Amino acid sequence: MVRVNAYAAPSATEPLVPTTIERRDVGATDVLIEIRYAGICHSDIHTVRGEWGPITYPQVVGHEIVGVVAEVGSEVTKHQVGDRVGVGCLVNSCRECENCRAGMEQYCLNGNVGTYASVDRDGTITQGGYSTHVVVDQDFVLRVPESIPFEKAAPLLCAGITTYSPLAHWKAGPGTRVAVVGMGGLGHMAVKIAHAMGATVTVLSQSLKKRDDGLALGADEYYATSDPDTFAALKNRFDLIVNTVSAPLDMDDYLRLLRLNGTLVIVGAPPEELPVHAFALSGQRRSFAGSGIGGIPETQEMLDFCAEHGIAPETELISADYINEAYERVLGSDVRYRFVIDIATLA
Ligand code: NAP
Ligand code: ZN
Ligand code: ZN
Repeated sequence: MVRVNAYAAPSATEPLVPTTIERRDVGATDVLIEIRYAGICHSDIHTVRGEWGPITYPQVVGHEIVGVVAEVGSEVTKHQVGDRVGVGCLVNSCRECENCRAGMEQYCLNGNVGTYASVDRDGTITQGGYSTHVVVDQDFVLRVPESIPFEKAAPLLCAGITTYSPLAHWKAGPGTRVAVVGMGGLGHMAVKIAHAMGATVTVLSQSLKKRDDGLALGADEYYATSDPDTFAALKNRFDLIVNTVSAPLDMDDYLRLLRLNGTLVIVGAPPEELPVHAFALSGQRRSFAGSGIGGIPETQEMLDFCAEHGIAPETELISADYINEAYERVLGSDVRYRFVIDIATLA
């Protein structure tokens, strides 16, 4: 066991504070990673504030992790000391169910082990990436291509894969019209990836404040949802809508923007229900769907896709003592477009 520096939430209502946590000894198939950068995902905030249900405190969050391999177990074959690696939202799964065997560990039928706030195989609660080191089984460690700047790579491990997976599944590409709802951490990655896939991309944001950025990142059109004309102008337009918003929206309004056979996929995860009326779906044989992160093979595919297309997240590098302010800015939709913690400031 090794004790390492970390930033933890002491309760649902208090700010995060510096602390230390224990990391397990490096087992035969484990990799010890010296964390360099960790992204701040809105899910971290939902989790520490207990919005998705009660958790055990103190809790360290962070599931957008990149670092360098510092030690490997005796049976590790996939990674070597010195490799640039990443860890996303998953650190284990049963590996035996049909979904795990298909490389979709996020949908493990026996319950995957999340990078934080999950019960690990040794019965402890997993602690995330706002810390200097983490020990992870080699099968859940990704290779980070050299061409992706290290200080920008971390958000790919959640925001990148969470948007890549539905865009790939629902076949965003040339000739398809994709709308991205919300220009935050996930949303800005959805814009970049959908554009790189060849789709025509429209951003639906609360205001036009981030319009110039959206167009520069690859959007073809940008609309404010606060303008009621938007919903009339875009009726029956899109093949695919990716909703990244962390708060509840009127789903019927957005479903009506889908053309025949279009799909509205939810990746945002507000704790509230999202009611839908039958006619908003049946009117144009529309689908209402959801998607969760991505499996390990698809996460590697996404990293390689981003390297090939020169895609990296837009980030703001912060020191660990800025995490609580960063949370407030995320909650105020004031992030351009992902906060990344420089873990050197935790050492
Ligand atoms: P984020 O950076 O805060 O972005 C969310 C964006 O939603 C904001 O930038 C804002 O965009 C828009 N928004 C926020 N509040 C709104 C409101 N009340 N009404 C309308 N629009 C609003 O968050 P994120 O890290 O991208 O995460 C987004 C959501 O995805 C969270 O709920 C998170 O838990 C969830 N998530 C899910 C998965 C999954 O596997 N499905 C994975 C990761 C995250 P504008 O300023 O452009 O309006
Ligand atoms: Zn996340
Ligand atoms: Zn499984």
